[in-house]
Amino acid sequence: MTPLERITQLAQTKPCYGEIPTYYLYTFGIAGERFFREIKDNAKIFGTRCPKCNLIYVPPKIYCERCFAGLEEWLEVGTTGTVHTYTIGYVDLDGSPLEEPIILAMVAIDGAYGGLVHRLGEVKPEEVRIDLKVEAVFKDQAERSGSILDIRYFKPRQK
Ligand SMILES: [Zn+2]
Repeated sequence: MTPLERITQLAQTKPCYGEIPTYYLYTFGIAGERFFREIKDNAKIFGTRCPKCNLIYVPPKIYCERCFAGLEEWLEVGTTGTVHTYTIGYVDLDGSPLEEPIILAMVAIDGAYGGLVHRLGEVKPEEVRIDLKVEAVFKDQAERSGSILDIRYFKPRQK
């Protein structure tokens, strides 16, 4: 069978066993590039604003998901937010118990539309609640690599 011939019956297919080496390279995209660069270089969180809908997207988007306008206005949104929802993990991906539970939260960034899914730190599971006011804790600059993990976690804000 040549690559141009068409299979018309399932019985014409043949399995091939073996390994195919594959490599993936994911890019941040236009908006992600600047978003992660600001986190890495300046420990700042940026979003993009739609002037028509008056929404600030975090993570930033290059098109408004409501009106499809191209978004070119970037602005710093600060590093504080509110726990929108959360979950507490007691086991790892293999089902083995964790030494300490991890708390994952959807953090709505203040003044922005959207938010970041990230870890919470410096808080006990029993102290977490929806609407908890939090702030980002960044790694030291020398440790930052251009990843969302450059934000170490979000911790409760001091009152
Ligand atoms: Zn819009």
